[in-house]
Amino acid sequence: MASITPRIFARSARQVCRSGGIPRAAFVQGRRYASTKHPKDFEPPTQSDLDELRERVQEFTRREIPQELAQKTDQINEFPNDIWPKLGEAGFLGITADEEYGGLAMGYQAHCVVMEEMSRASGSIALSYAAHSQLCVNQLMLNGSPEQKAKFLPGLISGQQIGALAMSEHSAGSDVVSMKTTAKEVDGGYLLNGSKMWITNGPDAHTIIVYAKTIPDGASKGITAFILETADAKGFSIVSKLDKLGMRGSNTGELAFDNVFVPSSNVLGPLNKGVRVLMEGLDLERLVLSAGPLGLMQASLDAALPYTHQRRQFGAPIATNQLVQGKLADMYTKYRASAAFTYAVARAVDESHENPEIRTQDCAGAILYAAERASEVAADAVQLMGGMGYMNEVPVGRILRDAKLYEIGAGTSEVRRMVIGRAFNKEFAER
Ligand SMILES: Cc1cc2nc3c(=O)[nH]c(=O)nc-3n(C[C@H](O)[C@H](O)[C@H](O)COP(=O)(O)OP(=O)(O)OC[C@H]3O[C@@H](n4cnc5c(N)ncnc54)[C@H](O)[C@@H]3O)c2cc1C
Repeated sequence: MASITPRIFARSARQVCRSGGIPRAAFVQGRRYASTKHPKDFEPPTQSDLDELRERVQEFTRREIPQELAQKTDQINEFPNDIWPKLGEAGFLGITADEEYGGLAMGYQAHCVVMEEMSRASGSIALSYAAHSQLCVNQLMLNGSPEQKAKFLPGLISGQQIGALAMSEHSAGSDVVSMKTTAKEVDGGYLLNGSKMWITNGPDAHTIIVYAKTIPDGASKGITAFILETADAKGFSIVSKLDKLGMRGSNTGELAFDNVFVPSSNVLGPLNKGVRVLMEGLDLERLVLSAGPLGLMQASLDAALPYTHQRRQFGAPIATNQLVQGKLADMYTKYRASAAFTYAVARAVDESHENPEIRTQDCAGAILYAAERASEVAADAVQLMGGMGYMNEVPVGRILRDAKLYEIGAGTSEVRRMVIGRAFNKEFAER
């Protein structure tokens, strides 16, 4: 274990640098924050806060997610569940959450940093991490009542509990609003009926945010979000853990609900306004998930750069060939351009925290761009490593399989283009 956890580092360092030695809690007393996207005492981190956080995550991944663990997770298709409390202890599970519930209150740039470095170590562990810390914890943080936050966040942030979010269904993926799962009002709560498909952490989760139709023929105006506690949920079952091309070990499940009772106190956000909860969550989800492909591009470069400088053919390192240099240059440039996009959007969100500016086209654009580049960069890494690149003993094949997910999950590339186009249509229609 590191002698100073990031949680302690982040709090103490940020308290001192913001207030010139006065603890931050005292420094911000009396201020009011209108933000609904950041914790109440949020102040954007400085670049040196973010750099130091990155170093802490790198220390963590070197120690806790070595390449052997990443390879094994992929090969046996099993998530190493003992990592959750370690991630909690390090403070990474509540990066965007209020300190009151155990979070670090560091915002979306910081969340991208953790997601990037985690993905650099293991795409699948990072995907499960994001489903927990962004899709579940951050959704609860943004939409939960004080009672719901006090009940669910501490266990999720400490890593004692595992979180997930379930919106997709067999027949409702891109067209998620056409979901068929229903929630019928009964005495004291609701009965969930239906099924959910491709749910990250679904097979392991203790807490799942489930979207269901409270008005079955109400289209986008009839969906509500619920917090499901799986341990006490009679009628809830895991139909199967799914076998995947990539992101293996990030446990993905099909879930079924047969008259599952959810108390009224577990309705998340306003009744029948689940689409607003869902869509606002999707913007920030796309933003934080766009750091996943960044980490996979870094991992591709981590493998291809040393290999091409060590591997000799025709009497010289292969990296001295211009065709190889060209590929390396393109890989590096794609990574840098994608990172610049993601962090610029995350910075804009953090810095506008008092009146958050979350541009749908930017969140969708960041992940659209990074995801497609990551598949290209990973494929180039395989190519540059030749026969060796095709072997499972090196990580690039796994990275290529993992990267493809980011063109599909959290909305496909086609849907992201559609979302960007629609944002322009809306903007021009309003003129
Ligand atoms: C590993 C993994 C993890 C996931 N984790 C979660 C999770 O935790 N929670 C959750 O709720 N969901 C999750 N998903 C589901 C994911 O969000 C959906 O798979 C995704 O939204 C796409 O839906 P679909 O698979 O039904 O594809 P479809 O909607 O059937 O799309 C198939 C193809 O048609 C294209 N297409 C569809 N409509 C249009 C259109 N109007 N214009 C142009 N092209 C179109 C798509 O882009 C795609 O290429 C996960 C999926 C995977 C693979």
